[in-house]
Formats: sequence, structure tokens, C-alpha cells
Amino acid sequence: MRTHLTGICKAIPTLPVPSAGQSCFSISPSPRHRGRRWQPAPLAGHSRTIAGRLLPPYSRWEPGGRCEALPAPGSRGPPGPWLRGRAWIWRESIKSRREARPPSCQSRRRRLGHRTMINPNYYPWGYDGDNGPDQWYKNYPFAKGRHQSPIEINNKEVHYDSSLLPWFASYDPGAAKTILNNGKTCRVVFDDSFDRSVLRGGPLPGVYRLRQLHFHWGSSDDHGSEHVVNGVRYAGELHLLHWNPKYSNYLDAKRRTDGIAVLAIFLQVGDTPKPEMKRILEEINAIKTKGKNAPFPNFDPSILFPKSHDYWTYHGSVTTPPCEECVTWIILREPIIVSSDQMAKLRSLSRNAENEPNHPLVDNWRPTQPRYFRMVSASFL
Ligand SMILES: [Zn+2]
Repeated sequence: MRTHLTGICKAIPTLPVPSAGQSCFSISPSPRHRGRRWQPAPLAGHSRTIAGRLLPPYSRWEPGGRCEALPAPGSRGPPGPWLRGRAWIWRESIKSRREARPPSCQSRRRRLGHRTMINPNYYPWGYDGDNGPDQWYKNYPFAKGRHQSPIEINNKEVHYDSSLLPWFASYDPGAAKTILNNGKTCRVVFDDSFDRSVLRGGPLPGVYRLRQLHFHWGSSDDHGSEHVVNGVRYAGELHLLHWNPKYSNYLDAKRRTDGIAVLAIFLQVGDTPKPEMKRILEEINAIKTKGKNAPFPNFDPSILFPKSHDYWTYHGSVTTPPCEECVTWIILREPIIVSSDQMAKLRSLSRNAENEPNHPLVDNWRPTQPRYFRMVSASFL
């Protein structure tokens, strides 16, 4: 034991050894030793007190003046001063920062770890106050990132990029498979096992495969879209989601900044509704509740496109957890027109399963996120 203690004292010879009766709080390292966190242990037989209280023989000096028991020599304790490299100091500082967090936060983070990134459905989320967009970041840390979507698009802040090319979609109607209600949206799923329905051009570096389309809508006609254009929130927003087949699969693509391309089309309530919406809306009755799906063969989603292909583009995220920042957004300037009845049809969906109390599936949109230093480019003047 004596050898061990002597070793410590030798390693930091200028640090004072507390003597009996001396308060731990009065001891601080000299400026030369400020980076060192460990006070030499007292010599065997010494006892120290704070306000008359006996301290354990092996105590740790903390900058805040806290004394904690150290493991006795021989037991597996912190490394000796000669072993404390940068890595050790870094590890300790991470630990102490973690300890400073409130316990609820600590345990959640530890429980989560990497699982949030892998399984987006591990922690339930929704659009209500208790599990809604303001809470998502707690279980899905990407949601607090700096490339989040949706955003507000303001003409003043958009810049015209003459180098932006027109975009093209070539969709195979035979790729459409099913339509489903997942309790969060109405979705049409496409076969994406090869390049049969693709989007290319525009800001995209290559072809992107169509995987699914879905909608976001409100509880009334005056709101429901996710992106906001010059202060205008449309009644709804259609998202056609594509992934970059240079990655091995969709999940892999979601981890890459150029992995996903979403073509977004606004739904505006008007007097001359788009008849092409009928095909989707007439299937709504078959998928009223969460978990229901129906076959949806032979559908070419390009029938939903507006006349103009003018667009805004920026880099952002998926707008539902885990909110990965992997999306090249292509947002069409011209909305498509839908009727109030068609919007009401979407609102007739339920977010509950068949045997549960009815909750209408409405307001499944995420509020706009800070743009930070991102540039929004326009393909038009
Ligand atoms: Zn969406």
C-alpha cells in the first residue's frame, strides 16, 4: 500500500497533500496542474475532515469542491496519473457531462442508443401534443438537425439557378401494387425492385426509383400542406418518394445525403378539381382504418402532375421520424386543384384500427423547420 501511495505522490509532486483537519474544499491545483483531476491520496494513517466529518482515506478532488471515495489500492479503480492520456480525460469529461443531465434524459438516451436509427417504429410517434412533432427529437435526435423539412419558401430568399435542368418522370403503371392506411397517412406502394418507375433530371445526379406516394392534409381546407410558400399553407401536399439505386436498398439510401428524392405537389381547393384524383379517392372506403390495404394495380402517378414543371429545390429531411437528412426536395410551384369533397374524403380515414374507438386521421403534417444557412433554388425566374 505504501508503495502505491508513494508512486502517486511522486507523479504530482507539486500538488499539496491534505493534512489532518484540512478542508478538501481549500485544495485546488496550481495553474500548472489545472488539467489534472486527481488529488494525491493522503499518506497511510492520515485522516481528513470537513466540518468535523471524517473523510474516507482515498478521496477525489473535484473542481467544485466535492470529495468522493476512491477505490482502495489494488482494486480496479481509475488509472494512475501516468496512464491518464487525452483519451482518458475525454472519456471522463463525456461521463461527467452525461451525469449532469437530468436522470430522465440520461436513461432515455442510454436506452435508445443506436436503435432509434435502425427501427423508426420502435418509439411510437404521432401528431398530437404528447407524441407530436415538438416531441419527436426526444426519441429521434435527427429531428433537431440543421437540414430538417419542411421549410417555409419565401420568394425573397429563393435564388434562381439557371443551371437547373428540367426533371422527367417515366413511370410504369404496372409498378403500382397496393394502397394502404398505416394510421399516419394514405400511401400507394410501388414495385421498386428494379428501375421500372424512375425520376431523373432537375437537381438529381442520376435516376431515382419510385417507392411510394402519400399525402399530408389538415382538419379543414385552409391548412394541411407541410411546406409553406410565401405564407400560404395549402390544403394538402402529395409526396412521391424515390430512392437512389446506386445504394443497395431503400434503407441504405436513407442513410445517405443523396439517397432520397421527393417530388412534392401542393393540393389547392378549387372549382375545377383534378379528375385523376378519383382513382385514389375511390379506394379510400376500402382502407378506412389503420392496417387496412387494398390492391392498387395499373396506376401511373404522373397523371397527378400539374401542367408546369417549374420547381424549387433544396436539401432537407424526411418529414416523419426518424427524420433522416437524406432528401433532395423538388417542390412544384403549380398546385393541383382538388375539391372540398375530395379533401373531406381523405379526412374520412381513421388513424385507429378497426376495433378501436374512432379518431379521424387529420392534421398529419409537420410544422416548418428552421432553414439555417440552406439555399433554396428555383428553376424559374
Ligand atoms: Zn410526406
